[in-house]
Amino acid sequence: MARILVVEDETDIQEILEYNLKRDGHDVVLTGTARDGLRHARERRPDLVLLDLMLPDGSGTELCKTLRQDAATRGVRVVMLTAKGEEIDRVIGFELGADDYIVKPFSVRELLLRVQAVLRRVSTGESGETTQFGTLRVDRGAHRVWVNGQEVELTALEFKLLLTLHDRRNRVQTRDALLSDVWKIDADVTTRTVDTHVKRLREKLGAAGIYVQTVRGVGYRFAERPDEVA
Ligand code: CA
Repeated sequence: MARILVVEDETDIQEILEYNLKRDGHDVVLTGTARDGLRHARERRPDLVLLDLMLPDGSGTELCKTLRQDAATRGVRVVMLTAKGEEIDRVIGFELGADDYIVKPFSVRELLLRVQAVLRRVSTGESGETTQFGTLRVDRGAHRVWVNGQEVELTALEFKLLLTLHDRRNRVQTRDALLSDVWKIDADVTTRTVDTHVKRLREKLGAAGIYVQTVRGVGYRFAERPDEVA
């Protein structure tokens, strides 16, 4: 099951997409304008956006470009929909960062297969931005984290803290270093801030919380095997 956002102003196509995507087990949200599409994409962070090229308040290509530039939506997959005769080069679609391109009128079966193929690329990390570490999966582009396949909601700061620890795994990070690298502040601010946030991050990560290890008197280390803790 994936979260799919449909941005398409033709109601009959909306209905066809909604019916068939839901029947395939997806969670579907319908919007008819570029403005609503962008808002939903930012708020809901869908796995995939089905994006019509010609919208009443703008073009799908502009929206696609905006989605790619925005940190909150960068990792979302985009499949563009276009009517025959709306001549836009396929290449332009891909240059804008679309993952696939479907010409209307489309066969529903074909569309569902393409959607599945694009979603499969996401889950296997072919985007190059998804990394798996034990039970933990991180999508840097989309700022999303999963533990044992369950999504974990992290604040922007917690996400940054997790990435910093993860990218320097197996090496001890002092509280001072974390303060300056994650918070961008000098160490004269209390280092207790670090402890508080690490504690909260660990709780949110649940089963993957064991990777964030305390190195007594020094700081923290991200490692797979807890028995290595000093
Ligand atoms: Ca349209």
